[in-house]
Amino acid sequence: MWHQLKHLGLTQLEQALPALFETARQERWTYEHFLTRAIAAEVEGRDRRAAERRIKAAHLPVIKTLEAFDFSFQPSLSERLLWELADLSFVKTATNVVFLGPPGVGKTHLSLALSVKALAAGYSALFTTLSGLAESLETAAYPGLARQRLRRYTTPSVLVIDEVGYTKLAPEQAHHFFELVTARYEHGSILLTSNTAFAEWGQLLGDEVLATALLDRLLHHAEVITINGPSYRMKERRRALRETVAESTKG
Ligand code: ADP
Ligand code: MG
Repeated sequence: MWHQLKHLGLTQLEQALPALFETARQERWTYEHFLTRAIAAEVEGRDRRAAERRIKAAHLPVIKTLEAFDFSFQPSLSERLLWELADLSFVKTATNVVFLGPPGVGKTHLSLALSVKALAAGYSALFTTLSGLAESLETAAYPGLARQRLRRYTTPSVLVIDEVGYTKLAPEQAHHFFELVTARYEHGSILLTSNTAFAEWGQLLGDEVLATALLDRLLHHAEVITINGPSYRMKERRRALRETVAESTKG
């Protein structure tokens, strides 16, 4: 039987069976109840494995949640809007979400938190920084590989492009960025974070015309969320500093 289970690919059931037999005997389960539980063990196991694979494939640098985000620290930000986005209709409609603002205000945190929600709902996601993306597309040794690499960024339901604006792009990199935004346009959502106002994207991409065309596609179906507030990193640093000072003046 064990061999046949393996042959059928029922590996989750294979693992669960010994314990199920044991409990079934002890609790005198009916045949129906036993079979129901056995099938559920396989299905739940498969779902769990698939979820683990999706989370791994998403390459999130760290797990952040919306629940852990302190909205009271960022009053310019609409908490209601973020919870609306968390219902994931933006994924279904291939709407982009752009977070704009200075460092430390939570742009990456929020894009990770929305990715976590999407992954939990069964969507695929992928996290990358713009420089990581540009590098990966640029170093493709031949056109076939470049297309294959581009597909890596076009297939996930949610693509996070973090840190747009920290580095200026070379012409070829800017072209790849444009190509990707075009490929995902009306097909899949982009969650993008940037510290750079749209007016400066021409400089960022080294090409005003390309920047206009890219922004046109990126923003056609998009929620732009500007966070104007203090840096949470600085808040934590200040608190740590206060504690150190308090500690050292205690006596
Ligand atoms: P940004 O991407 O805008 O530079 P991050 O999202 O990386 O900022 O935030 C910096 C750090 O502060 C992260 O560890 C993040 O989890 C945390 N953080 C930022 N804003 C908040 C907030 N309002 N509530 C809780 N944690 C926050
Ligand atoms: Mg960031």
